[in-house]
Amino acid sequence: MTIRLYNTLTKSKDVFAPIDPNNVRMYVCGPTVYDFAHIGNGRPAIIFDVLFRLLRHTYGAAHVTYVRNITDIDDKINARAAERAKADKRNVPILDVLRELTEGTYAVYREDVRSLGCLEPTYMPRATEYVQQMIAMTQNLIVAGYAYAAEGHVLFRVKKKADYGKLARRSLDDMIAGARVDVAPYKEDPMDFVLWKPSVAEQPGWESPWGYGRPGWHLECSAMIEATMGETIDIHGGGVDLMFPHHENEIAQSEGAHHGHPLARVWMHNGFLNVEGEKMSKSLGNFVTINELLKDWPGEVLRFNMLRTHYRQPMDWTVAGMTESWKTLEKWYAVTEPLADPPVGAAFLEALSDDLNTPAAIAALHQSSDHELAGGLGLLGFSNTQMKIAAKKEVDEVAIAQAIEARKAARARKDFKESDRIRDELLANGIVLKDGPQGTTWEIKR
Ligand SMILES: [Zn+2]
Repeated sequence: MTIRLYNTLTKSKDVFAPIDPNNVRMYVCGPTVYDFAHIGNGRPAIIFDVLFRLLRHTYGAAHVTYVRNITDIDDKINARAAERAKADKRNVPILDVLRELTEGTYAVYREDVRSLGCLEPTYMPRATEYVQQMIAMTQNLIVAGYAYAAEGHVLFRVKKKADYGKLARRSLDDMIAGARVDVAPYKEDPMDFVLWKPSVAEQPGWESPWGYGRPGWHLECSAMIEATMGETIDIHGGGVDLMFPHHENEIAQSEGAHHGHPLARVWMHNGFLNVEGEKMSKSLGNFVTINELLKDWPGEVLRFNMLRTHYRQPMDWTVAGMTESWKTLEKWYAVTEPLADPPVGAAFLEALSDDLNTPAAIAALHQSSDHELAGGLGLLGFSNTQMKIAAKKEVDEVAIAQAIEARKAARARKDFKESDRIRDELLANGIVLKDGPQGTTWEIKR
């Protein structure tokens, strides 16, 4: 099956042909681990997971590398780390404080996207672990004339890159406005962007040829792509809001450091996500985290709801949509179980291979035999675990309480074989028991 993907760089839907079919390489800009991820962040996670699955289906699971980074260098993270280190009496190095700080947020993100049915990417590099590579890339850019050091900063010389702007295709005025360019005395040109900037002693930072400091955000993706997959990859993805300046700058840096070799052959961008018709924002009070949603909705329902809109279209996230998604999945799960090794229908696969047309693929599933429905659901990453658990939770609270009592009685008469059996049976149904000083409680395994 021929896969066609819309390429932001060419502005057309092109036949996808990997550089090496034995190692198809895809990179997606990942989360900044400062706060819990909102449902808008869930969109690229789900969309590119579907593409990852389609590529694995087409080229074989062992022949696809998917890298999604973790941004743990960020001004807000730095400020919080500095604050915490100051209050901390242990005298722990600031970078250890930063790691502690981001570890928890990252663990929640990882669990959130797993609940959304996403496979783990092949690699999930953290920015803080690739600073030496970023320094090396910056040095290469200076040698090649694409960058210059000034007052503890290193800046990318945008005018030197004649095709700068080729991804976003904007006018210079537009780009200046979009990049929120600030004019600083050490800059040769207002458009020049930061590769390295100084940190004060209390802030997280690293020693470099330009003094104690930290990398600019754009640099981390360029350096981590090079380190994990080489100079040129097949697909680079992310939200449309990252196209400019972030992706444009990634291209400038990588091509500048690699003698003009392209960073990625295909650039893919998912559209915006609104909530109930409005732009999500903390001030509007409609800032919906994935973690909050998962308390009320099975992850599969959120995943299905996301896939009902084509990834390039703007999406309106609504309760009505989630309810509708739940109904459809419930109906389908009643007649079928998703298959791990899916025999998929031709119309379904054709739709999915046509620039990930998930609404058309879902329409094809509505027409499918139960067998092909099961295969299609499997390929789209549905497993029918959380819906079952959600259903169980509603009907089985009494049964769980009875099982806990029976286990307590078994333990009292030292019949540990029976008490273990009860615990394992509950676990097999997604219920985890926790023994504590107040007795035994239970929770749903996610
Ligand atoms: Zn990036």
